[in-house]
Amino acid sequence: SDLSCALQIPDDWPGYPLDLFTSPEHYCEDLECVYIPHGVIMDRTERLARNIMDDLGDHDIVVLCVLKGGYQFCADLVDCIKVLCRHSNKTLPMRVDFIRLKSYLNDQSTEDLHIEGAENLSVLSGKNVLIVEAIVDTGKTMKTLLDHVEAFSPKMIKVAGLLVKRVPSGTGYLPDYVGFEIPNRFVVGYALDYNEYFRDLNHICVISDRGKQKYKI
Ligand code: 5GP
Repeated sequence: SDLSCALQIPDDWPGYPLDLFTSPEHYCEDLECVYIPHGVIMDRTERLARNIMDDLGDHDIVVLCVLKGGYQFCADLVDCIKVLCRHSNKTLPMRVDFIRLKSYLNDQSTEDLHIEGAENLSVLSGKNVLIVEAIVDTGKTMKTLLDHVEAFSPKMIKVAGLLVKRVPSGTGYLPDYVGFEIPNRFVVGYALDYNEYFRDLNHICVISDRGKQKYKI
């Protein structure tokens, strides 16, 4: 993979003022700024879908959606691929499967990673697998998941990550398809949560200190 192919959001990117866009009233004091507007996410996803079609078109794939944070990206990516299939002579038969991971408490990564749904991964053996994950931070989660998936001997594994953080402590793991490379800030929205809040927000936003306090456990 090649990060120069990702849309780079610079360290000094301030985001957009909240009141230039719409977001749910119940979060109005819990957000700092709109970091990546929903429309830009959709436009970038459309291009990732094209790159995936160019590489994998005419193969059968199993899309493995990493829940919960990956559901929106996965749904939109699959939709974009379906549209491309309708408008080209290439086709990409897809199955969609789900796995659930959890490693975060508040805004901190915890050591223990839980995988639910790993029992069913035997359906991946001999298949072309596209893992779809919303965000790669240190890369530990993806490394663990890849080890798990590899144990079922798929024919091929590709990974699509909407966001990759620039973190000094990272494992250096990079998905094959990256939407945005972002600074090391905690983001929410577009199915990304903070203790289960903010999944019902379309834009990717930075949470405010007040928001962090309000929804802390
Ligand atoms: P990693 O193992 O790469 O450090 O962490 C990856 C996981 O941490 C992601 O799957 C996601 O659940 C969570 N995560 C990391 N950074 C963020 C963030 O900025 N916002 C949210 N909502 N979750 C994050």
